[in-house]
This record gives sequence, structure tokens and C-alpha cells, in this order.
Amino acid sequence: MPTYKAPVEDVQFLLNDVFHLERYGNLPGFSDASPDVVTAILEEAAKFSEEVVQPLNRVGDLEGCKRNADGSVTTPKGFKEAFKGLVEGGWVGISVPTEFGGQGLPSTMTTIITEFLASANLAFSMYPGLTQGAIAALLHHGTPEQKKSYLPKMTTGEWTGTMNLTEPHCGTDLGMLRTKAVPQQDGSYKITGTKIFIAAGEHDMADNIIHLVLARIEGAPEGTKGISLFIVPKFFVEADGSPGARNGVICGSIEHKMGIHGNSTCVMNYDGATGWLLGEANKGLNAMFTMMNEARLAVGVQGLTQSEVAYQNAAIYARERLQGRSISGVKSPDKPADPIIVHPDIRRTLLSIKSFNEAARALVLWTALRGDVAHRSEDAKARQAADDHMGLLTPVIKGVLTDTGFANAVAAQQVFGGHGYIGEHGMEQFVRDARITMIYEGANGIQALDLVGRKLGRDGGRAITAFFGEVSAFVKEHGADEAMKPYVAPLGEALAQLQQATMWFMQNAMKKPDNAGAGSTDYMHLFGLVALAFMWAQMAKAAQEKLKNGANGSEERMKAKLVTGKFFMERMLPETAAHLKRIQSGSDTMMELAAEAF
Ligand SMILES: Cc1cc2nc3c(=O)[nH]c(=O)nc-3n(C[C@H](O)[C@H](O)[C@H](O)COP(=O)(O)OP(=O)(O)OC[C@H]3O[C@@H](n4cnc5c(N)ncnc54)[C@H](O)[C@@H]3O)c2cc1C
Repeated sequence: MPTYKAPVEDVQFLLNDVFHLERYGNLPGFSDASPDVVTAILEEAAKFSEEVVQPLNRVGDLEGCKRNADGSVTTPKGFKEAFKGLVEGGWVGISVPTEFGGQGLPSTMTTIITEFLASANLAFSMYPGLTQGAIAALLHHGTPEQKKSYLPKMTTGEWTGTMNLTEPHCGTDLGMLRTKAVPQQDGSYKITGTKIFIAAGEHDMADNIIHLVLARIEGAPEGTKGISLFIVPKFFVEADGSPGARNGVICGSIEHKMGIHGNSTCVMNYDGATGWLLGEANKGLNAMFTMMNEARLAVGVQGLTQSEVAYQNAAIYARERLQGRSISGVKSPDKPADPIIVHPDIRRTLLSIKSFNEAARALVLWTALRGDVAHRSEDAKARQAADDHMGLLTPVIKGVLTDTGFANAVAAQQVFGGHGYIGEHGMEQFVRDARITMIYEGANGIQALDLVGRKLGRDGGRAITAFFGEVSAFVKEHGADEAMKPYVAPLGEALAQLQQATMWFMQNAMKKPDNAGAGSTDYMHLFGLVALAFMWAQMAKAAQEKLKNGANGSEERMKAKLVTGKFFMERMLPETAAHLKRIQSGSDTMMELAAEAF
């Protein structure tokens, strides 16, 4: 059976030694996140994830969700009780403002807890995850009455949330959506239409489900400019705040799918359901973007989680599985064979995953902290810079962490040989579960287009210029430091390649947009590698400092950091050259064949 251990020490290293959490002390909520509080939260979240949520991962996969004749959905055995634990622990609303019953702690804490929960059980973690996204949309766009009606119960997790965008004929191109909203005398709307693939659309773990639904108000313009966002509760909310009569929304069926069986993926039928506008009419996509941006980062984290949990199990297996002898001489003469961890190719596999995971976690936390600055700082300039960072890094985190997370789950499965392909070790579940992360919240090809087509040129390239400036300042500052050379020199080279790729788009994509589309996925991965290398350079610096100042029992971990970072620079980062070359080859060949020739 697979196991999971939450990387508490690694997170503490990042928060304390790499990103210096104390520097954020002037932001609201951060003064409450003292080192003691953070440690207590991390340890409790780790315990809950490891002991309560992880054991349900396999159960959820085998049992799945069941739709009953009345349209209700039963979640797998144990999910309900575990969700109750989540509510009682106050985990859902840990970063929600205190006025709505949350703890007001940094959103970065929620990101960390999301990692632990999703590593333990991706399907289960989606129920609170979607609720947090819906809370964010309500916080940003809700009227005071709407906030008062919905937020307190969603903050506790007694009520959960969903996001309803997709329809049978449109997922990426939402401009085509047909769900209709008809205005009523009392200011509400009657919503009619079918939404598909709605995660957590119906289940038995909460007293109410608050659906956020995209629909077109009768008479509104065609395309994306005529889309509005509506709040459609499963049960109407009574004056005393309790759930009342049933609204006209029902789960028509649930999908049979490749993975995340413990999460109900529903067809939702809206049959004249009553909804209320959230935000402005015809600006629904803007409002939904608040939720989608949160969700995109969270899905990036999901990619990391399946890579992490698959890695942990592969590393354990590699230490135990005896097969063959080391080519450099027998390592375990007392045993019939050496453990497979002696073989360089197994080490290559494990270190590729490990070096990605640790840097990806850093990239997520760095960006989550910027997210807190963007939402909480009183300094307008700092807010804008942080917002730029978020806009630029969100598609990179979503796309790169999920593409690589899936590839890593497959690589970790390979460490098990045939035993990874059968169900017993749980490795094939990680592969199946990881796969969806590349598809939902905007398929990864769309993330790459968002990065190249929208984010690079926005505000005269302000965000990318700031990113280049930050990385080159680090390279300049530490370039002459002998100990840092193995990290800084390759980072500098890779940065130059990213700059060349950016310049190539500027010169070649305006006149021929297909050049941007043809190179966008490579660009996203090139960007991701540079960002991950930047994380490694900073982690190496922090590890060296720690070793110099007495690492207090973490010597071995810090030395391992330095080796793992060096591996990343030597073996992972060189892929940037191939990405650059592919980008520079342009779109001509790929666009030459007629559609019939495929
Ligand atoms: C398990 C699961 C859970 C989901 N949860 C939710 C949910 O909770 N709420 C919700 O609203 N939706 C949800 N979805 C839907 C999901 O977000 C969509 O499936 C996804 O956005 C892709 O839309 P689509 O399936 O219609 O694919 P399409 O839009 O048809 O795209 C097909 C392919 O074409 C590519 N493509 C499309 N347009 C372009 C373009 N202009 N340029 C280049 N490539 C392009 C895409 O990248 C994709 O690879 C879920 C889906 C699944 C499977």
C-alpha cells in the first residue's frame, strides 16, 4: 500500500531560510503567522493528511462516487467523516478574513495545506479546493448581502462551492456557451441549461452546495462579451441563514473517468433554477477569472503533489527491491542482489523527480507569497509588481507543474517495473489521477497560449522585464562566488536562452501569429525550467548559509539540497537549448500539411 509523509521540514526551510517569512510581517495576517503558529499548523495539517485523508485514497479510487435515483450522490466510504474532520479543524477557511469566520492567515498557508491534502488524496482535496475558489470569487465580487448569506458557511466548509463553465459543445471557447439567464421582477434570474464535467457538483458531505454558474442573460451580446456569472444555491438560504427549499438544479449523471474517482464529476441540469448575478452583468468571465486564477495555481500544485507522492513511494521501493548487482561492484554482499537504488538509471529517475519537486514547491511558495502581497499590501507599487508576477507565473505553474507532474508519476511507476502497473502498490492510480491536471482549468496548450499571447506583451512587457531583472540581479550578485558557480553559471545561460526566445517572438510572432502558437508550449517549458533553476540557485545559497552557520541537525538535508540542485542544473536545465531551437524553427513545417493529410 502506498504511503505519504508531508514535507514539513522542506516547507519550513523554504519559509524561514529561502523566502524569509518574517519579511512579510507588515502584511495583514502575517503577524499572526509566528514561527510557532506556522509549525503547529504544518504539523497538524500533515497529521490530518497522512492519517485521515491518505488512507482513503485507494478506497475512493476503488469505490468511486455513486449517483442515486433521486439525483443525490454518495461519496466513497469514509469521505463524509474525513470531511467532517476538515470542517472541525477549520482547514477550509484558514485564510478567509476573520469577519466571515475565517482565521485570516496568509493564503500561502492554504497553499501549503492544499499540497499536503492533495498529495494524500487528490480526489478528496478537490471538495475544499473548489470551495476556496468560490469563496475568493464571492469575496471579490459579491455584494455585502451575498457575502453575508454564503461566506460564513462556506468558510467553515459546512457548505461547499463549485464552478460551472463547461458545456457539451464548449470548454475552451466559452464564447459559445448557451446556458440562459432570464431576468425576474425581483432581481433574480431563471437559469436554464446543461453544464458538464462539474467537479464536486453533487455530493453528500455538505448541507448546501453553492454553484457559481456562467450563463448568458437573454438579449446579451454573442461571444464572451455577453457572459455573466450567477450564484445558484442547491438549497435557498432562509432568513436565519439555514438551507431552505430545493432550487431547480440537479445532477443528471456522473462521469465514468480515468482517475480521481473519489471526486464526483457531474452533469448539472439547470431547469429554471433561481440565480443571482455575481459581479456585473456581461462581465462574468472577469469574475470567474478570480476563481480560475486561484484554481489554476491550485491545479499546478496538484501536478506537484502526484509527482511528490509517487516519488516518495518509488524512493522507498528502490531502497527495498533487490535486483541485479551494482556495475561498480557488489554493494550488499549479504543479500542475493543489490537494492535497485544502486543502479545509476534508477538514481537518474529518482533525482529527476526529486529535483523537480523541491524546486516546484519553492516556485509555488514564492508565487503564493507574491499572491499575499498582491491582495494584502497597502503599497500600490508592491501590489502591482506582485500582481504582474502572479499573472506571468500562473500559466507557467499550471502548465509546467502538471505536464511534468504527470511525466514524473509515470517515471516513478517505472521504478516499480511490472509491480507499478498492477493495482497493489497504488502507482498506477497516481498516474491516472495526475492526468486530469493537464486538462482541466484550461488545457495546458491554452496555458501556453495565455503566457505567450497575453502575458508577455501585457503593459509593455512589464512583468517579463521584472522577472528578467530579478533573475539577472541574482546572477550578478552571486556570479563571482566560487561555491555558487555550479548553480549561477547554468542559470545565467538558461536565462539568456529565455531572453532570446522572448526576443524571437517579438520579431517573428507579430507578422505571423502561428509562430507564437507553434512555439508556445516550448516557451512555457523553457520559462518553467529557468524559474525552477532560479529556485534552486536560491535554495543552494540558503543551504550554504545554513551549513556555514551551523545547520542545527539539518546538515544532511542541506548537503542533499546542494547535490539535488546540482543535478537539476546538470541534467534537467540543459533541455532549455532544445526548447529554444524548436521555438526558433517557427511554424512553417507544422502548418504545411492539409488537414486531410493528418
Ligand atoms: C474530471 C474533470 C473535471 C472537470 N471539472 C470542471 C469543473 O469543475 N467546472 C468546469 O466548468 N469544467 C470542468 N472540467 C472541464 C475542463 O475544464 C475542460 O474539459 C477543459 O477546459 C477543456 O475543454 P474541452 O474538454 O471542451 O476541450 P476543447 O475546448 O474542445 O479542447 C480540445 C483540445 O483543443 C485544444 N484547443 C482548443 N482551443 C484551442 C486554441 N485556440 N488553440 C490551441 N489549442 C486549442 C485544447 O487545448 C485541447 O487540447 C472538468 C473536466 C474533467 C475531465
